[in-house]
Amino acid sequence: MPRPILASINTSALKHNLAVVRGYAPHSKVMAVLKANAYGHGLVTVATALSTADGFATVDIEDAIRLREAGFRQTLLLLNGLFHESELPLMAEHRLSIVIHNQEQLEMFVGSGLTIKTDIFLKMNTGMNRLGFSPNHFSLALQRLLNSRLAGNVTLMTHFATADDAAGVEEPMRLFFKTIGDTHLAKSLANSAALIRYPATRADWVRPGIMLYGSSPYTDQTSEALALRPVMTLQSEVIAIQDIQPGETVGYGQTFVANRATRVGMVACGYADGYPRHAPSGTPVLVNGVRTTTLGRVAMDMICVDLTPISQAGVGDKVTLWGDRLSVDEIAQGAGTVSYELLCALASRVPMVVLA
Ligand SMILES: *Cc1c(COP(=O)(O)O)cnc(C)c1O
Repeated sequence: MPRPILASINTSALKHNLAVVRGYAPHSKVMAVLKANAYGHGLVTVATALSTADGFATVDIEDAIRLREAGFRQTLLLLNGLFHESELPLMAEHRLSIVIHNQEQLEMFVGSGLTIKTDIFLKMNTGMNRLGFSPNHFSLALQRLLNSRLAGNVTLMTHFATADDAAGVEEPMRLFFKTIGDTHLAKSLANSAALIRYPATRADWVRPGIMLYGSSPYTDQTSEALALRPVMTLQSEVIAIQDIQPGETVGYGQTFVANRATRVGMVACGYADGYPRHAPSGTPVLVNGVRTTTLGRVAMDMICVDLTPISQAGVGDKVTLWGDRLSVDEIAQGAGTVSYELLCALASRVPMVVLA
C-alpha cells in the first residue's frame, strides 16, 4: 500500500469557478492564469478543464509550448515576456503572445527581424514597481512598438499592487487611463481581486488566477461568500493513535502540552508534502468530516491532530487537510501566508487524481 496521502483535483469546481468569473465579467475575454503548474494543480489538467477560456497565461515558455503542442489554440500569454532574445523565434513559431515590460525587451523585439507577427501585451507600471514602463515612457514605447510593424494585436496592460486591500485601484486606474488617453487598443488590467470588486477594471481581458482555484483573493471575504468552489482537496489518513495524559506533550520541541486526557492521531502529511510548518497548534483539520485541530509542530512526514472530539476514532480515519469543506484560506491564514503559496508548494511526492 502506498502512503495514504492524496490530492484530488475537482474539474467541475474549476468549470464552476470559471463561470463565476464570466458572471462578473460577461463582456471580457478570460485569460486563465496557469503559472506555477496552474498554482500547483497540474498545467494540462487545468487547461483541459478550462478549455473554454479565451486564453491561458504562464511564465515559463516550456509551459506555453506544452499547451500549444497539446492542441490548445487559444491565446497563450507569457506574463514576464522574454528573458533572452534567443526565445523570440520559438515564441513566434508557437504563436505565443508576450508581455513587453521594459526597454530591453522592446529593443530585442523590434530588432528581431521576425517575419511572423506576434501579439504583444505592453505593460505599464502603475505603482507595483516591479515590471512595466513608467507612465512617462509608456507612450513612446507604444509608438516604437507600433512603428516596428512586427506586432500583431497590441493590448495595453497593467497589474495592481493593492486590488485586494483597502488602498484599492483608484490611483493606478487614474494613471493608466490618463496615460493611454483615447485609444482603440485592447486593455487588460484585472486579476481576481480587481475583477470581482472593481467593474471598471474588467476591460477587454481579465486575468483571474486564484479565484479559478476556488480560493478568495481577500482576507475579509471568504471563498464561500464569493460562491467559489475549492478545486484541490488534500487528504490523508490517521496512521497511529496515542492517548496522552494531562501534562504530557506531543511532537518535536514538546510545544503542545495536554491539559486533559487527549486522544492524539498521527496523520500522514507533513511539511515535505507541502503542509506549512508554520501552521501552529490549533490549525483546523477535518477527521471523518468532523472539524478538529492540529496539535504541536508539523514534522516532515506527519502532523498530530486532536481526536478527542471524534467518536470512535481509529487508524485509517479519513483526514482533510484542506479543500472540500475546509478552505485552504483558513490554513494559510493560520500559517501566516496566503493560499497561493500553499497550493503552489504541494510537493511532487503527493499523488494527484483528477475528478470529473
Ligand atoms: C498571477 C497574475 C495574475 C493572477 O492573479 P490572481 O491574484 O491569482 O488572480 C494576473 N496578472 C498577472 C500579471 C499575474 O502575474
